[in-house]
Amino acid sequence: MSEAAAGSRAAGVAPRLVLATHNAHKVGELREILLPHVPALAPEAVVGAGVLGLEPPVEDGVTFEANALIKARAIAHAAGLPAVADDSGISVDVLGGAPGVFSARWSGRHGDDAANNALLLAQLADVPDEHRAARFVCAAALVVPGGGPDGTDAETVLRGEMPGRLLRAEQGEGGFGYDPLFQPDGESRSAGELAPEEKNAISHRGRAFRALAPAIAAALG
Ligand code: IMP
Repeated sequence: MSEAAAGSRAAGVAPRLVLATHNAHKVGELREILLPHVPALAPEAVVGAGVLGLEPPVEDGVTFEANALIKARAIAHAAGLPAVADDSGISVDVLGGAPGVFSARWSGRHGDDAANNALLLAQLADVPDEHRAARFVCAAALVVPGGGPDGTDAETVLRGEMPGRLLRAEQGEGGFGYDPLFQPDGESRSAGELAPEEKNAISHRGRAFRALAPAIAAALG
């Protein structure tokens, strides 16, 4: 029995789409973004890679798109199912687009949000307001095994962005990562002060996955 079949038995519903993340919070967020746009998909049919016991691949791409595809390909091949992955981060204009794909480990320790935020604030301490432009970026990838011509895999990768600027101190308790330091364009609040549905409506991740939804719907028939 394949791992996917074993996973579906455990869940009671056949998985049809694997989200290539082991982060339960992200699985919930992506389900919320995707399901209204892919009505044929039952919520239980969207599973995280951890449910199927799949290991995360090494993310050694140097662009968001490359890393999203690495993750989606690895999980699609291991599960034998259509797989969706994202890669995201923050790009600061005055830093030439950094931290970019190094956002999660900018301070040297992967996933240390407090240290990452402190370093970014220190780096921009002397930068005036008019030069603090930044954007969150997300690449969302779909890989469908055998979904391309002549049995090749079908691959789609699309980008979403949320432009804004970096604040001078953290604001708000919500969100994660760089959210408390980032004010989206047109907002007086930081991303850490937005309700989840407010953030999804304008976020880089929301935009990338809503753009990808028609390809997902087509792949699942
Ligand atoms: P990944 O896409 O899970 O690899 O996330 C990369 C890193 O980018 C995260 O650890 C955060 O530091 C940052 N990041 C990505 N999206 C967001 C967001 O929506 N808010 C705040 N930080 C984010």
